Amino acid sequence: MLIIELLNSLFANFCILVTFLFLSGMLSKKYNIAGHSVSRITRVSAGLLFGCFGIVLMSYSFPVGPDTYANLRHLTIVLISSYIGWLPGLICTMLLSVSRILIYGASYNSISAAVSLLIGGLLCCWISLLPWSRLRKVTVSNLLCLGITLVTLVNNLGDIRLVMDFYPLQFAVTVAAGLAIYYVAEYIYRSNDLYTQLELNATTDYLTSLNNLRQFHRHLDTEIARAERRGECLSLLAIDIDHFKQINDTYGHPAGDAILKEFARRLSSISRTYDIVSRNGGEEFTVILPDCPLYQAQKAAERIRAAVDGVNFTLPAGKKIHITISVGAASYPESIQDPDGALLFQYADKALYAAKNAGRNKVCTADY
Ligand code: GH3
Ligand code: MG
Ligand code: MG
Repeated sequence: MLIIELLNSLFANFCILVTFLFLSGMLSKKYNIAGHSVSRITRVSAGLLFGCFGIVLMSYSFPVGPDTYANLRHLTIVLISSYIGWLPGLICTMLLSVSRILIYGASYNSISAAVSLLIGGLLCCWISLLPWSRLRKVTVSNLLCLGITLVTLVNNLGDIRLVMDFYPLQFAVTVAAGLAIYYVAEYIYRSNDLYTQLELNATTDYLTSLNNLRQFHRHLDTEIARAERRGECLSLLAIDIDHFKQINDTYGHPAGDAILKEFARRLSSISRTYDIVSRNGGEEFTVILPDCPLYQAQKAAERIRAAVDGVNFTLPAGKKIHITISVGAASYPESIQDPDGALLFQYADKALYAAKNAGRNKVCTADY
């Protein structure tokens, strides 16, 4: 009977933990949280969140003795420290240890259970710093916590035979649950990683890391709709590097790529932080200028043109070359009256070709 009830409690703990893991996975996908580059505030929040998960697990415990309970709460510390690091591991440990006493009272058994959580948690934090695989961290942390639990159980129940009535089962189930939880966590972690990668590949240009054509059109449609809603203007610059084919033909394709990258970097740094810079393909770029009338767009375009004209670009072999660009500018509602992104792009492109026809290294506007 005791065995069945213990199994029930541990199974409930396992199912709840899996649910929490999926919820955390959804949160980390929504807020783009990847294991390697997690901010301090996120790590603190993750520690608090997993601490709360552990507290919920405690309320599904099985009482194996006076003020002594079996559950999988320590797995929240094992997971958060192995995946996100020592800081959330420590926060989760402190929260669980303090709650253990606050919820179940300050009896001797409660305090020793809280101390056992604290020691186990600190060991998990230390293990999280080791250059081990996540599987090794989770397994070793889980085993250490189970070892400390055994000592605490013997200490609290006062008789090892009482402990041996249920501990072997608790040990086996907890090790299996730890492994199963690891595979669930790994599945979520890797799917999130792949999702982020896929999203990045679908929206950014592989060479320059600027927005790609699809993302440019998305931004343009969003921005023009916003401009219409707010009664603001929106400008678009279409930029093309002059005689770029000659650079490829003279210095080779890799040199051309290096120029494209360098140009993208400079274009981004010249633009305002809220301007949207994209590589639309080949040596063609665009800049969306929110809340910007045509005369200001023309000034911005001239600034970019002059900045490119005024510096040399360095090829991978060290040689410096001079390039120029032609720019076409169009604005809503000055160049076009309908808030239509495709039409605005068409007008900026027409202005760009006017700049090419006017001799290149020029800026033309769509109201020519
Ligand atoms: P124009 O002044 O009329 O714009 O002349 P252009 O030579 O710049 O224009 P054209 O359209 O004739 O040539 C564009 C060249 O850009 C041809 C193509 O090989 C090159 N190109 C397109 N994509 C890439 C790329 O990703 N890397 C490199 N290195 N070159 C590229
Ligand atoms: Mg060109
Ligand atoms: Mg071109």
